Amino acid sequence: MPETASSPEDHTSYSPGIVSVLPFLYIAWADGLLTSTQIAEINTRVAAQSWLSPDERERLRGWLDPDHPPDATTYYRWVRQIKASAHDLPSAAQKSLAELGADMARLAGVDGPIDEAKRALAEIEAALGVVGREAVRELVGERPPVADVAGAVVPAEVAGLRASLDGRLAPLRDRIRTLLSDPAFRYPGTETPTEEMREIVLGWTRRLADHGVGAVALPEYAGGHDDHEGFIATLETIAYHDLSLTIKFGVQFGLFAGAIRALGSDAQKRTYLADAGSLALPGCFAMTERGHGSNVRDLQTTATYDAATQEFVVNTPTENDHKEWIGNAAAHARMATVFAQLVIGEQSHGVHAFLVAIRDGGGEPIPGVRIGDSGHKLGLNGVDNGRIWFDHLRIPRENLLTRFAQVSADGTYASPIPSS
Ligand SMILES: Cc1cc2nc3c(=O)[nH]c(=O)nc-3n(C[C@H](O)[C@H](O)[C@H](O)COP(=O)(O)OP(=O)(O)OC[C@H]3O[C@@H](n4cnc5c(N)ncnc54)[C@H](O)[C@@H]3O)c2cc1C
Repeated sequence: MPETASSPEDHTSYSPGIVSVLPFLYIAWADGLLTSTQIAEINTRVAAQSWLSPDERERLRGWLDPDHPPDATTYYRWVRQIKASAHDLPSAAQKSLAELGADMARLAGVDGPIDEAKRALAEIEAALGVVGREAVRELVGERPPVADVAGAVVPAEVAGLRASLDGRLAPLRDRIRTLLSDPAFRYPGTETPTEEMREIVLGWTRRLADHGVGAVALPEYAGGHDDHEGFIATLETIAYHDLSLTIKFGVQFGLFAGAIRALGSDAQKRTYLADAGSLALPGCFAMTERGHGSNVRDLQTTATYDAATQEFVVNTPTENDHKEWIGNAAAHARMATVFAQLVIGEQSHGVHAFLVAIRDGGGEPIPGVRIGDSGHKLGLNGVDNGRIWFDHLRIPRENLLTRFAQVSADGTYASPIPSS
């Protein structure tokens, strides 16, 4: 069976036989590289290797069960050990999985000839039909993400300090680190064009969402467990990898989903949060305007209630009152939480938040919405910041986020918060 995070095995070193198979364990569980059938194929072949001891075969059998993936601590430990060994092996990035495994075993002090093992590992690699050298190069040949560098530091006092800083959230942080150590998260070249960088960071965000990480702070019915501290720890851990990803992730799950969670009614939360938390509904948080950043109270965008149709009319009064710097707006968001002055009749009730669809299913701005691109920035170019103008866009009455304010069909305003 795979180890658990608290297993005493965490503190023992692997036997050379196990070490020789580590590159295969890595590729077996690296996200999306192998199918369950291929993992089972490795398992069958490893079980037949007489140069491995019965104990080693039994242990490997547990780690290569397609129905029981290893826990994050174990997987991350393999990754760390491979990287640490590669550091001491010349030309590690040019090796096949079999060559790397055999060399690692030699480094770990294997007794006797290793040719049989090397030949057997090469056969397994050939049977898989995967590009082993490419996988090895991606794992050990690129500049590692900062999270991996932190993981590779071994002195006991560093491990202790890390455990102390990680605290009760250590398993979550380890899980994020493991996800980020996948080859899919390797950095593109520094000259990557802005458009491409935005798509890469969107893909990274999607991968994290696919593993349920985006919904951490959301209610159970939306895929989470109301863990706000966990969400902050997630952002912090991602920040060691890439700040564009941190911001993209924060805008989607913290600002967009977070606004619905904090300001929406129970029904609104049940309607939107699962899709916001899984990224099925990409969104943005449209508060700032060109003329009003810190001074939110005086935002100029209006949402005027029309009792005849039971709609709000969202409008940008002048060209310079557009929403500015909005993350996710330039390319990816389909919906925005828009902060606007709520007007009923002649009276303004102050700034309220509204759910506003800004793009159709094909990614085009919907009629009544104009979207601009903030363009290339000094940094954070994986985030598509943009500008939004509204031209008398009509949205249903139900799209006012109603936890703290309601407007009845006839236009009667109610709020538990007193306003002067
Ligand atoms: C990369 C990027 C991404 C962003 N993403 C989003 C987003 O997704 N959604 C969104 O709604 N907004 C977003 N913003 C906007 C951001 O929230 C605003 O820039 C921020 O609120 C500051 O507003 P401002 O730029 O208008 O600066 P201002 O409010 O004009 O402030 C300018 C300066 O004046 C100072 N100042 C302001 N008021 C006072 C005061 N009363 N007393 C003393 N000093 C004061 C400020 O500290 C600052 O130094 C983003 C901005 C950037 C740069």
